[in-house]
Amino acid sequence: MIKLSGRLSGLEESVTLAITAKARALKAEGKDIIGFGAGEPDFDTPENIKEAAIKAIRGGHTKYTPVGGINELKDAIIGKFERDNRLRYSREEVIVSCGGKHSIFNLFQAILDPGDEVIIPAPYWVSYPVMVMLGGGTPKVVHTRESEGFRMTPEAFEAHITRNTRAVVINSPSNPTGAAYTAGELEKLAEVALRHKLLIISDEIYEKLTYDGFLSSSIASVSDEVKKNTVVLNGVSKTYSMTGWRIGYAAGPKEIVKAMTNIQSQSTSNPASISQWAAVEAISGPQGTIEAMKVEFEKRRNAMVDGLNAIPGVSAIRPQGAFYVFANISKSLGKRVGEKTLKGSVDIANYLLDSAGIAVVPGEPFGDDSFVRLSYAISMKNIVDGVRRINEAIGRLK
Ligand SMILES: *Cc1c(COP(=O)(O)O)cnc(C)c1O
Repeated sequence: MIKLSGRLSGLEESVTLAITAKARALKAEGKDIIGFGAGEPDFDTPENIKEAAIKAIRGGHTKYTPVGGINELKDAIIGKFERDNRLRYSREEVIVSCGGKHSIFNLFQAILDPGDEVIIPAPYWVSYPVMVMLGGGTPKVVHTRESEGFRMTPEAFEAHITRNTRAVVINSPSNPTGAAYTAGELEKLAEVALRHKLLIISDEIYEKLTYDGFLSSSIASVSDEVKKNTVVLNGVSKTYSMTGWRIGYAAGPKEIVKAMTNIQSQSTSNPASISQWAAVEAISGPQGTIEAMKVEFEKRRNAMVDGLNAIPGVSAIRPQGAFYVFANISKSLGKRVGEKTLKGSVDIANYLLDSAGIAVVPGEPFGDDSFVRLSYAISMKNIVDGVRRINEAIGRLK
């Protein structure tokens, strides 16, 4: 008998991956599949960044580095926080990890004890609750409404705080909804967090991908007091199309950053040296490619939102950021395909894949079973064709 750790009891097989695997298998059989599942930009990493990596290899930057990142990269990150967020950090308040996900994982390992609760607004990024559980804590989900733009109100936030609450996760712009908080809304949430002495965990990985002129702000910029109680998470994956390079970072109180660095020193050690040098160029080199990517994403977002809203029984709000649309499919629930009744978002996703060759991600693992997530990190042609096929498939439901 093989025994696994009890900590893994909350860790289920990812439904998202199951559908992705099925879509891939169908594609391999030669089926015409349009995949709306992409969780990464479909643009190539900019040339100047690739060149910096090649230069790092040739220059011999191929050995262990300090665990929390090279000073050149920490300084580039410090410069970015000053430039973009008017936040001042020292090197001891910054850690570079193997992707933003790794920074968040380290953070939960560093701050949680059994019984500690972490408030997570839903719909949430699938990994937050699992990472809280792996850190020994308990996720406390706060459901938000589509009619409120999927934004947690200060009242709902406060109503979920108990004496065991330790932290709150704010992800703006959000994966999977694309919702983003205004500076004023962040100020109100920060006020509640401070009053209850909670740590604010602010995942700002989609900071640069905002539309219609919306400017993303960091909750840590609200005041010095808020900054002292916030860990900001960010990375190069989404902003610079660098998902494969695995560089993310966190900035916050030095005691926490030190603990995260210790955890990292006993697990992964430093992030790849070559990727770190590429990230220096990404963060401090020319920033023009971000704007070009944004312009393209904004067009695709509009096409997708307009297309989905033209489908009878489907609706989607226009998100301020990221590259996802969270589409409301609740009107299709309870409808039938042959003998089978579509009961939730997983059934809808399977139906769209089987009957129309469309891969979407069910909302259930993101905490809302009445929605599916569609990524617009795919070509305009696929968006247009895909939305048409969804329309036809939904129209066939009885
Ligand atoms: C993609 C993503 C991350 C981090 O990705 P990395 O590639 O690990 O840097 C973090 N948070 C959210 C919400 C994401 O979607």
